[in-house]
Amino acid sequence: MLITNEIVIEKAKKIGFDLVGFSKFTTLNNEVDRLKDWLGNGFNSNMSYMERNIEKRFDIKEILPSAETVISLALNYYVKGNYSNKKEMGKVSRYAWGTDYHYIIWNKLAQLISELKLIDKKFEVKSYVDTGPVMDKAWAVRSGIGWQGKNSNILNKQIGSWFFIATIITNYDFSESKIVTDHCGKCTACIDACPTNAIVEPYIIDANKCISNLTIENKGEIPIEFKGKFDGWIFGCDICQDVCPWNHKFSTETKIPEFLIGENREIDLQSVSKLTNSEFKKKYVSSPIYRAKAKGLKRNAEFLLEDNLKTD
Ligand code: SF4
Ligand code: SF4
Repeated sequence: MLITNEIVIEKAKKIGFDLVGFSKFTTLNNEVDRLKDWLGNGFNSNMSYMERNIEKRFDIKEILPSAETVISLALNYYVKGNYSNKKEMGKVSRYAWGTDYHYIIWNKLAQLISELKLIDKKFEVKSYVDTGPVMDKAWAVRSGIGWQGKNSNILNKQIGSWFFIATIITNYDFSESKIVTDHCGKCTACIDACPTNAIVEPYIIDANKCISNLTIENKGEIPIEFKGKFDGWIFGCDICQDVCPWNHKFSTETKIPEFLIGENREIDLQSVSKLTNSEFKKKYVSSPIYRAKAKGLKRNAEFLLEDNLKTD
């Protein structure tokens, strides 16, 4: 073995990743059972892609036959600051304040992998940033990055939960990291604070009720039952992370300049209604907000504007 755990950690940190962990190959029996239960309850809402490639999620050797170890990496995106809470402005989830993280993480992964392949050209990998059929959170838990909290995010004792996860499946037999135990304890802050009761039981989110899904992945109308419950969110929702004590105590600001820009913290609701498709594309093509498409962002703005009219 030419590449060691220490070499991966050193290089990943130099490139800018905040956390690195390793887990041995195994099939994800319990995790996939839980996924199937979740899907069976229809909690994935319109995210039908979650139903596909279950066999790859279960067994990463379906993706990389030589798979021996998974490397999980975390990139902190936390930017300080708050919202004006003016009702004419819509709030954007913190992860989307700056440049689309996919570009940044893909570049960092490419750099890390090419540096490791220079050491050993037999180093085989498949890497993902939340787009492939890989259970990134399950692997992050197995790699000791953190525990999965009752709000379903991965929490780390040193930096809280404001981070993206990248996953590298490798043919290398690295030693595994120590698993972190669940430190949610008796806390229920996220469950209590969720304005739509989307955390239907600890650790289980019903995406049909989650503002994040309703404003981003949802392609239809926002159901009337959520009128008055959106708390000003136009893209995503951070309430269950904002209230988490681990984030209060341990969030530290990201060092990534593209996240620090923070230019899309809030959006003027009236201006969204007037955006043409080409103006939307120009403004948001490099932002995670692009995922909602002009139609989705306008729908969200109109939903909030209707709420405002009722409270005027
Ligand atoms: S993101 Fe918002 S709506 Fe979704 S579970 Fe968390 S608090 Fe609830
Ligand atoms: S708010 Fe409390 S229960 Fe929810 S994830 Fe954080 S520590 Fe866990």
